[in-house]
Amino acid sequence: MKKLLSIVVAGVFLAAGLGLVRAEDSAFVASKGGEKYHYADCSVAKKISTDKLVKYAKPEDAVKEGYKPCKVCNPPPSADALVATQDGGKYHKQNCKMVGNMKTENKVYYKDTAVAEKAGYKPCGVCLKK
Ligand SMILES: [Zn+2]
Ligand SMILES: [Zn+2]
Repeated sequence: MKKLLSIVVAGVFLAAGLGLVRAEDSAFVASKGGEKYHYADCSVAKKISTDKLVKYAKPEDAVKEGYKPCKVCNPPPSADALVATQDGGKYHKQNCKMVGNMKTENKVYYKDTAVAEKAGYKPCGVCLKK
């Protein structure tokens, strides 16, 4: 049992080390042992103590480890998910300038265009022009 514990501890240190190396490209964070993942600049994320902070370059990495999106900062489920507002209209790429005007709590994410279309959304004429 003791041996198992030391393997777990070593693994945690290794993970922490990798986290430090990748610190510059980590846009998403979570609290070790917590339930939610956040945008790195979320007000809730800023309260996570540094020894518990885990960093992710892509949200899908946090999802893969079982974290759920924070309700305050509403991070996307994946880096290439499409984003729309709850009250309908157009769907966008996350980097579209129109997305900057959306209220955080109003954002909904769709994994691809087919799902967004099925939900009744139309592609944005700015970021998804063919
Ligand atoms: Zn958050
Ligand atoms: Zn757009």
